[in-house]
Amino acid sequence: MKVNKIHKSNLHLCFMESGEINTLIEEISEHLEKPELYHALKVQSSIRSITSEFLKERGFIEVPPVIISVLTDPLNHPVFDPTIDYYGYKYSLTKSMIFHKHLLTKHFDRIFTFSPNIRLEEEDKVKTGRHLAEFTQLDLEMKGASRDEVMSLGEDMIIDLFKKIKRSNEEDLKFFGRDLRIPSKPFKRIAYLDAYKQYGEDFEHILSSEMKEPFWIIDIPLEKREFYDREDPSRPGILVDMDLIYPEGFGEALSGGEREYELSRIIDRIHRKGQTEEQFKWYIEFAKEGLMPSAGFGIGIERLTRFICGLERIEDAHPFPKIPGHLSL
Ligand code: AMP
Ligand code: MG
Repeated sequence: MKVNKIHKSNLHLCFMESGEINTLIEEISEHLEKPELYHALKVQSSIRSITSEFLKERGFIEVPPVIISVLTDPLNHPVFDPTIDYYGYKYSLTKSMIFHKHLLTKHFDRIFTFSPNIRLEEEDKVKTGRHLAEFTQLDLEMKGASRDEVMSLGEDMIIDLFKKIKRSNEEDLKFFGRDLRIPSKPFKRIAYLDAYKQYGEDFEHILSSEMKEPFWIIDIPLEKREFYDREDPSRPGILVDMDLIYPEGFGEALSGGEREYELSRIIDRIHRKGQTEEQFKWYIEFAKEGLMPSAGFGIGIERLTRFICGLERIEDAHPFPKIPGHLSL
């Protein structure tokens, strides 16, 4: 989809002129008619069924998503943050279900959800081709798991998915001229600081463009991530977490890691991040009751569709893409 020409630099409610409405309607109708969208959505539909089957076979329970909550992911990058006042309480739209996932591991060993996330990204994100303001994460968490276990599960899930998609969606991949390569396990691992030393600031993009198979960036420095990823007790400042990066320049696929679960460490991390206990009072109350060690990850479904189909832009993986900073239906 072409980036919408109707652009409002602020996000205030505006009165639309009839010309603007017509342009938007034309663009959406054009988008919905594109064969690319049809084939991409067929692939996406298979992604949902194959991955959920894979997880259920391994003892995961699917839980429904949370759409509004008094608690959501603070994220480590700026986004607009609207809230809803409801009977005197302030609710946010879910940016990720990280805290809800972690709370659930007290009662369930393995859970997953297809979680719609609203992240009103700044308009410059439109340049990446892989950011939407509304997308879905396949978000999972495992009680008592280590980072290695969750990485191994992620590798198995990707390999299983690619193999099955090649069979179930042969025609769609043929339409895109996509020869999907099945990666071999274990995926390559590169420590964040090593990648940074070798390639500089832009390492993710450079490595993603050079690689032929998905690979991991591990041991991400504390200041680069939110407070809930676990700091390695033997290596202060380094987190026990990871990103999976797609090859061929498609960039980040998923983020995950082990979680902080001890109250004193959670409070210390909130302070080190310059955030307030007030902001996370609900989570802290649960932490006082005791949280479980856990690990998990979240993988963006539209990005996964984009990679499997080899789409240039993520918009073609959604019938009604919310384009950062632009008028969308
Ligand atoms: P995060 O934990 O913030 O890295 O988000 C988890 C995953 O969700 C990412 O690795 C992406 O696959 C996906 N994701 C994050 N932000 C966006 C976005 N704005 N548009 C589409 N997918 C996203
Ligand atoms: Mg990430």
